[in-house]
Parts: sequence; C-alpha cells; structure tokens
Amino acid sequence: MSRKALIAANWKMNGAKALIDSVSGALAKIQVDAEVLICPPATLLPLFPQTATLALGAQDISAEVSGAYTGQLSAALLKEAGASYALVGHSERRQYQFESDELIAAKVKAAIAAGLTPVLCIGESLTERQQEKTQQVIAKQLAAVYASHPKLLLKSVIAYEPIWAIGTGESATPEQAQQTHAFIRNTLASYDKDAAQQVRILYGGSVNAENCAALFTQPDIDGALVGGASLKPEEFAQICLSI
Ligand code: PGA
Repeated sequence: MSRKALIAANWKMNGAKALIDSVSGALAKIQVDAEVLICPPATLLPLFPQTATLALGAQDISAEVSGAYTGQLSAALLKEAGASYALVGHSERRQYQFESDELIAAKVKAAIAAGLTPVLCIGESLTERQQEKTQQVIAKQLAAVYASHPKLLLKSVIAYEPIWAIGTGESATPEQAQQTHAFIRNTLASYDKDAAQQVRILYGGSVNAENCAALFTQPDIDGALVGGASLKPEEFAQICLSI
C-alpha cells in the first residue's frame, strides 16, 4: 500500500497528565509500521513529550482565525500548542454542538490554512443504515466539503465512523467497513482519480485489540480512529502493532 497507515486516538473529554505518561511509555516500547496520532483534550497538548514518532491533533477547531469568539480555539493556537492534525466534524460535535456540513467545510479550510491536516469524520446513524441510506449520507457529507473547497478535501484524512458503532462495542464488520470505504474512495475518485488513491481513510467505531487486525486486512482501510480503547495504553499499543 503506498498510503502510510495512520492509527489515531481520540481521547474525547478523558485523560490527564498521568495518561500521557502511560501511553507515551507503552508506545516507546514498540516499533510501529504506521503513523501514530493522539488527539487529547486541547489543554494536554503542550504537556506531551516531543517525539518524532508521535503526532498530536486537536479534537475540534474554530472555523474563525481570531477575534471575539469566547471559548473557541483557532487552528493556529492549536498548532502552537503542538497539534499537526485536527479532527473535524466528529459525530459528537455534529450531534451536541449542532455542527452543519457548511461549518465543517469551513473548519477543513481553517485547518489547512493554518498548516494542520484535517481528519474529516463522516458516518451514518443506525436509522439511516436501516433505511439503506448510508451511501447517500456519506456522499452528501463529502460533497459539502468538496463543493466549497474542492482541492482541500483531497488533502484531508477521512474517518468513516458509523454512529451506531461509536462507543457501543458493536464495530462494523470488516466487510461492512470495506464496502463503505470503497464507496468513499470511489466518490473521491470521481473528483480526482489520482488524488483519491493517496487519501487515507480510517475506520472508527468500537475498534479494539481484538477486532482491529481483521479490519486492517481490508484494502481501503488505511488505519483507525480509536476512542475508548485508546485510553488503555497496552491495548492502544497492541492496536498500533496490528496494522
Ligand atoms: P470508540 O470511539 O472507539 O469508543 O467507538 C471512536 C470515536 O468516536 O472516534
């Protein structure tokens, strides 16, 4: 595979200084054939030891550059704190912060403008899957970013995270995930055939040390976005080793 695999951890609103030490310690002991990214709460970013083998990311960024936006963090601030990536459009932000596709497209632009690589999160709800609308939902989420910033979508990492699989313990099967990943890559190829081959597409949703190896055998799965299991240092290290 010409694409470098990426294993990303999304700590969500969890973790503390002690977790930085234990995760860094577990990762320092292993040799990983992938890029490893940790997205901790933003306040922890500057507390990580600087190593060439561990990339850091934000869990969200503001679409704005600066100004009177109380509580928001710009891409430039997050970069200064140590981030080189930013999750954008995570389903929890779409759900709890009511983020629209348009806002998410603006955040993709803000990330790239500041030199951060966006990890654009997309995925369908259980009802949408049951109604066989998965591809329709995914196509709309991709098209929203492509329509406003055609070249930028192809510079992003895509994370396919079916909402019904997030935090439920019920991962998509390797076949289900591959089917949607192939659809995502085909959609990207309809925008730009060559660039689509370079875009990394991660799977997220109840990835753990037991199910990751089978997911990683699929041709269009280039890594994982790991939530709950990324808070367990030994398990996260095991997932990194399974790619
Ligand atoms: P999970 O979360 O691994 O706990 O399902 C994944 C995510 O929300 O990114």
